[in-house]
Amino acid sequence: ESQKETLGFQTEVKQLLHLMIHSLYSNREIFLRELISNASDACDKLRFAALKDDSLYEDDADLKIRLDYDEKAGTITVADNGIGMNRDDVIANLGTIAKSGTAEFLKQLSGDEKKDSKLIGQFGVGFYSAFIVADKVDVFTRRAGTPAEEGVHWESRGDGEFSIEPVNRAQRGTEIVLHLKKDAREFANGWTLRSLVKKYSDHISFPVLMKAEVDDDKDKDGTPEPKEEAVNDATALWTLPRTEIKDEEYKAFYKHIAHDFEDPLTWSHNKVEGKLDYTSLLYIPKRAPFDLYNREAPRGLKLYVQRVFIMDDAEQFLPLYLRFTKGVIDSNDLSLNVSREILQNNDTVESIRNALTKRVLDMLAKLAKKQPEDYQTFWNEFGNVLKEGPAEDFANREKIAGLLRFASTHTGEATQNVSLDDYIGRMKEGQKKIYYLTADSFTAAKSSPHLEVFRKNGIEVLLLSDRIDEWMMGYLTEYDGKPFQDIARGDLDLGDIQTEEDKQQQEKASEEHKALLDRIKAALDDRVQEVRATNRLTDSPACLVVGQFDMGAQMRKIMEAAGQ
Ligand code: ADP
Ligand code: MG
Repeated sequence: ESQKETLGFQTEVKQLLHLMIHSLYSNREIFLRELISNASDACDKLRFAALKDDSLYEDDADLKIRLDYDEKAGTITVADNGIGMNRDDVIANLGTIAKSGTAEFLKQLSGDEKKDSKLIGQFGVGFYSAFIVADKVDVFTRRAGTPAEEGVHWESRGDGEFSIEPVNRAQRGTEIVLHLKKDAREFANGWTLRSLVKKYSDHISFPVLMKAEVDDDKDKDGTPEPKEEAVNDATALWTLPRTEIKDEEYKAFYKHIAHDFEDPLTWSHNKVEGKLDYTSLLYIPKRAPFDLYNREAPRGLKLYVQRVFIMDDAEQFLPLYLRFTKGVIDSNDLSLNVSREILQNNDTVESIRNALTKRVLDMLAKLAKKQPEDYQTFWNEFGNVLKEGPAEDFANREKIAGLLRFASTHTGEATQNVSLDDYIGRMKEGQKKIYYLTADSFTAAKSSPHLEVFRKNGIEVLLLSDRIDEWMMGYLTEYDGKPFQDIARGDLDLGDIQTEEDKQQQEKASEEHKALLDRIKAALDDRVQEVRATNRLTDSPACLVVGQFDMGAQMRKIMEAAGQ
């Protein structure tokens, strides 16, 4: 009797499948990269598990991926002898989406094909992308180390449910058969598949084998079983010398590890020998992932030790404010038994982390200098994350400050594109401070009465209006030896810019209006600390100023909102 069971996909999977099929039509070929990527991950996972228990290899330690096709039947098969899955794994991995925040993410999708395909790209499509080209998918799999009877056959038409049944499977690992849709049959073609493997999967660590094309003329002696050959280069990209790697190869490898559709903005590949011995390949993405601000979202690098994959999302190698960085770290100093716990308190990791932090900051500085437009793209996506830097990483705060971008009275626009170096280059003679103003919105900042005297004197003021700004400025005291000054705080000292005449005028005004000032102070009672005549204003009659060391307006609102 059949032990076949039919189960429903989790709602989110149904939604994702529907959207993917409808919005990724022009990107269909990525299904192959996703499936080969999974096969490669499965081989990595087995190699890692076998470090502790090499019986898992079942006398077959030669890890590889096989790609086959049948032009007449319209099928493509991707098979690996990696870790494989048991019944529970299959149900969890091929029936649900484990990422937190998925439901909220799916709500943002609009039905507009172009917009949605970008959003889905940020989300990462994975296994389910098989249904972009297939109207039926079969998965045959067995987890390494389990008996042949514990094989599993999963099957679905991608329409809301899947079935699952036990099968006998001598071969460990996973085999995925795509039954191509009529309009996708062109993919069941040797030349097409080879070029896609070359394009997307040349430098994964394992060989992708295909049967050699049979040349009918030569093969007359009746031995039609063709040999298998590796289609890809199959050397992990980061192990090659930089000079031998093409930009296209770096980009393809990024897509493999980052699950991103788009090219990265930039990357940095370094081999370090000496006291520390490691290779790193770090990338800056072009777009923020959908869960950038989700605390539980996976982050960190792919960790290898002596070329052996150890774990994904090793977060100890970079500080939190650089969490947008993707990449690989391959260490020769760590032990193959390294665990997340060990990584947490390890001097080697600490040293690598310091070096990688500098590496990322330098990579960003170089991007800003050489490709300012790309840097602006980076800033628009990740600027608010980088702004966590001065607080988290005091030692690098000068470097981080150099990477910050602000809106300013110089441009008068909301776009944050003014660097502190730009600002300093435009400082007036005698100006000693970097002036800034924080407010709830750019419009509020731009129309603040505090700006009047600066406008009059032609002095630039940085306009800060992101929620994090005031908090960040609490950790930045100076840049390039020039102190920051919040213009809504304390005494306003315009340094040598202010003429002697101005100063005398202000003193005179204070004298003349002493009686008035005292009366206002008495009327306002203890609601203000002091009432002063000022040269801050040219048009407005009065403004509020916070003491130099008091909490700013933005902070006060945050604290009030938090019930403090
Ligand atoms: P991701 O690769 O980002 O985790 P996918 O949707 O591509 O997401 O795959 C979902 C999960 O299914 C994987 O995390 C893995 O556990 C499992 N999986 C997919 N393909 C394979 C495979 N070939 N071998 C073993 N497990 C697989
Ligand atoms: Mg995947």
